[in-house]
Amino acid sequence: MPSADSPLTSAELPMLGADQINPSVPAIVRVALDVPLDRYFDYRNPGIHITVGQRVVVPFAGRQLVGIVMEFAEHSEIAPDKLKALIQAFDDVPLDAASLHLIKFCATYYHTPIGQAVLPALPVRLRQIKPAVSRKMWVYQLVQPVPAAQLPPRQKVLTRLLALLQQQAQCSEAQLAACSSGWRKALLPLVASGHISREAVVAMRPSLPASDVAPTLNNEQADAVQAIVAQLATFKPWLLFGVTGSGKTEVYIRLLQAVLSQPQAQVLVMVPEINLTPQLEGRFRQRLSQFSLVTLHSHLSEGERLQHWQAAQSGAAQIVIGTRLSIFTPMPHLKLIIIDEEHDGSYKQQEGMRYHARDVAMVRAKQLHIPIVLGSATPSLESWYRTQANPTVHAEQKQPYQLLRLTERAVTAAQLPKIHCIDTVQMPPEAGLTPWLKQAIAQRLAQGEQSLLFINRRGYAPVLHCAACQWLADCRRCSAKMVLHLKQRLLRCHHCGDEQAIPLQCPSCGNPDLRPVGQATQRIEETLQLLYPTARIARVDRDTIQAEDALTQVLSAVHAGEIDILVGTQMLAKGHDFPNLTLVGVLDVDGALYSPDYRASERLFAQLMQVAGRAGRGEKPGEVLIQTAFPQHALFAALQTHDYEAYAQQLLTERIQMQFPPASHVAVVKAEATSYALVEQFLTELTDAARQSVAQQARPQARSPIVYDPVRPSVARLNRMERGYVMMQSQHRGTLQALLRLAVMWARQHPLQAKLRWVIDVDAIDM
Ligand code: ADP
Ligand code: ZN
Ligand code: ZN
Repeated sequence: MPSADSPLTSAELPMLGADQINPSVPAIVRVALDVPLDRYFDYRNPGIHITVGQRVVVPFAGRQLVGIVMEFAEHSEIAPDKLKALIQAFDDVPLDAASLHLIKFCATYYHTPIGQAVLPALPVRLRQIKPAVSRKMWVYQLVQPVPAAQLPPRQKVLTRLLALLQQQAQCSEAQLAACSSGWRKALLPLVASGHISREAVVAMRPSLPASDVAPTLNNEQADAVQAIVAQLATFKPWLLFGVTGSGKTEVYIRLLQAVLSQPQAQVLVMVPEINLTPQLEGRFRQRLSQFSLVTLHSHLSEGERLQHWQAAQSGAAQIVIGTRLSIFTPMPHLKLIIIDEEHDGSYKQQEGMRYHARDVAMVRAKQLHIPIVLGSATPSLESWYRTQANPTVHAEQKQPYQLLRLTERAVTAAQLPKIHCIDTVQMPPEAGLTPWLKQAIAQRLAQGEQSLLFINRRGYAPVLHCAACQWLADCRRCSAKMVLHLKQRLLRCHHCGDEQAIPLQCPSCGNPDLRPVGQATQRIEETLQLLYPTARIARVDRDTIQAEDALTQVLSAVHAGEIDILVGTQMLAKGHDFPNLTLVGVLDVDGALYSPDYRASERLFAQLMQVAGRAGRGEKPGEVLIQTAFPQHALFAALQTHDYEAYAQQLLTERIQMQFPPASHVAVVKAEATSYALVEQFLTELTDAARQSVAQQARPQARSPIVYDPVRPSVARLNRMERGYVMMQSQHRGTLQALLRLAVMWARQHPLQAKLRWVIDVDAIDM
């Protein structure tokens, strides 16, 4: 039950409505349910003491559903004899006012039914009809070294576990389970004998204080820390723009130290991808050992997620590291939000409520009057635009982002890599590799250094082709080609996941000689094996990295010098630090240079900057070789001089000219059905209705939204559904939002709506 001393007082949150606190027993309880109707549902209170934010069970359409109490009322529009009573209220901690406030904002902004915004923000356990009691969380600690003589024979598992326990002061069950599935059986005898201690905790603070060696900050780092620390008590967006290896993480660590040294403080640190959490968690546990920390991401079991979420909600966890879903975690003492790799598209949710976690974080920081730090080597154009104090393009912007630069690599000896383009017109590749690149790899092998080949396509080859009749293997369900996966002996669609056997002969003309066309990770790996038979090669893509710790294992093998050549997709591009890696080869990027998607070059630049940043992280200089037919492209020129700013400025100028985001705001209505005729009719009528309403505005002028004609996305058919979308664009967020409200009302009443699926994607980044 919440009490009057709830940490969030209304004084701290002046924007909250009066509906938040109501100590009396109210007659009507208005509940949000996870159903596609944008309204609260009224229930009679049978006399239970209830608070806003509480979890309740209610009858709904013959079922029982879990809901969240949103507000109270004296009367309902529903006749008293029709009004059902709520069944039960759980006494776990209710959602706090600040969290509800944030979610309500999001439901409105993203045009999502309120219940479909609130309930998915909770851990699964809290969406189930049962009390949310989390199992105890145990941590294990080595208290007494185990003499080798005391170890049973065949102790491989135990040795691994003991090594882990030696590295980390405390290990969670999840960490031990990641190390070995047989951990419980192996360790329990040592718990019984007292060599290992076991205790129950709320949030973990395991680490070795011994490894707490803090480098002296360089001037730029020190300036950045000082600037932010000087303004901790106010809403302020900071953009920490630092090249890869410039010590952004070190800046985060100092900020956490400063913030958490205050009484009652919590920090939320967001990472775009689950694969980046172990690394950051490891560094934080070493350097911030005095503070309790939990992680929140989809690799946790439901039980762990509930525990970690509750540790954040109670304030017990001072640091929360999480992926985008963690943005809604209640944190009563939240004092700072850090968004690492803020440019990353993974922050955008692509189903349900299509929120952008970075943007939601910005709103949350503003509501709580706390600073927010966005970190990146290649900031999103959205954030970059907002650092520029140009009043003519920023009529709407109230709070410009403060730019902080880290221009050099933090480790003095580490140089930024030299970047060259290999002109594939002049020097055509054989089996994907040019002679220049092959020679560079051979040289690294001879020197005992590591190479990384980046190709952003998994599988063996993107296309299977019949040279006799030009047949290509298409997906049965999508307008897309099947990708050949030779290792798994099948064709797989990367859009819908459908699989087919590899045909023995051309289904169209019977020709038995079907050829793979193009390159992908498996094929490059095979070529490398043939070229360098003694080299130790590892492939990293979504096919090889499925288990939770598979990536960690490959990465530690790279660190241990057990791998000579890494082949991989963008999974490898981010965040990882390989001191002995001196060569990065980039294959097959030309498609993105002239893509119809206006964001493709921004994304490619960020990706290449990032993957180039993997080279030369140690004392040996790094080299990046890019195979391209367009070596003169401006993107490569900027990349070679490591000049993000120049390229960003150029892209921004284009965007402003074209009135694309961030110079305008866009939203997309997407629709799909089994026949395109339905989609087209729905979208055409929507377009007409929207245009009419724009024309009827009191002052149709330059600021009016533009409604584009319906078009089909590049994957026009997906999983047997024919797709289309309408884009709406406006220079003014408010007018766009007003138009979207009308569009939603229109669509919800449209007779076709039962025959198709439609959704609104505000600030869409993918069509
Ligand atoms: P980024 O997050 O910007 O990629 P990191 O914080 O990971 O950079 O720093 C890169 C490397 O430089 C790390 O090994 C880190 O320990 C080291 N480092 C960071 N700051 C300093 C410093 N001031 N002096 C020496 N080494 C540093
Ligand atoms: Zn054929
Ligand atoms: Zn498909």
